[in-house]
Amino acid sequence: MKNLRDMTYEDMLAEITALGEKPYRAKQLYAWVYKRGVDSFDAMTDMSIPFREKLKDIYDIRGIKVLDVKTAADGTRKFLSELDDANRIESVLIPETSRLTLCVSAQAGCALGCRFCMTGAGGFMRNLRLSELVGQVFAAKSLLDPDERLTNVVLMGMGEPLSNYDNVLKFTKMLTDGQAFGLSHNKVTVSTAGLVPAMERFMEESNCSLAVSLNATTDEVRDRLMPINKKYPIDEVITALRAFQGTGKRHVTIEYVMLRDVNDSLDDGRRLALMLRGV
Ligand code: SF4
Repeated sequence: MKNLRDMTYEDMLAEITALGEKPYRAKQLYAWVYKRGVDSFDAMTDMSIPFREKLKDIYDIRGIKVLDVKTAADGTRKFLSELDDANRIESVLIPETSRLTLCVSAQAGCALGCRFCMTGAGGFMRNLRLSELVGQVFAAKSLLDPDERLTNVVLMGMGEPLSNYDNVLKFTKMLTDGQAFGLSHNKVTVSTAGLVPAMERFMEESNCSLAVSLNATTDEVRDRLMPINKKYPIDEVITALRAFQGTGKRHVTIEYVMLRDVNDSLDDGRRLALMLRGV
């Protein structure tokens, strides 16, 4: 069965048209699947029963299976989910005074092997499908209290989002589409370890924000902490960020994990301040 949650509006339009149905049916279907978030064709009450039966024969609406939820004292909820092939991913709901952020995983495992990261130590399994990205949003929504509303999404969980570029781009478009999840584009942030060509492409193709995991102020230290630095050194990452910031309407976030006696000296502080001028 084809999973409708793997489809963009354009995909659904192509499917519906191929079935000989009117194009407006694709709009209805898209809204039921993403805006209203139903997982049953029987809930699609503005569509005729014969049409719904036809859909049932060809498609399904599958999510991910939440196995475990851990809630911290501050209300942060970390949930572990299982995918169809038994790979497991984590997502986190982070409540703050004026926002509620979902941190989404983009891959099962990660190939980049950053030295300070447990996901990297476990190796790479595979990219997540679109249905598994949106599945994390629906799973998070099912955990919300009635008075809670998801306000932000960050792709900072397991994996390097820009290595799963096509699905992540579709996902961010869907998150900011008024006919789907309807978040503002400055409430959606994609985090990267610094894949420069993909950052440049993202800059062209998305209005969402970017976060870069920097974690060092010299190539020597960053090479050790984040092997991807040997391919895309600090200078290239910062130059790409300046161009991104030059577009004027988007946020750039710099992530810097302080590691005692590794990247936390006064010299690091000075270099960081200089480096980030104009970013
Ligand atoms: S890119 Fe992110 S998930 Fe991958 S190893 Fe580095 S810190 Fe971990």
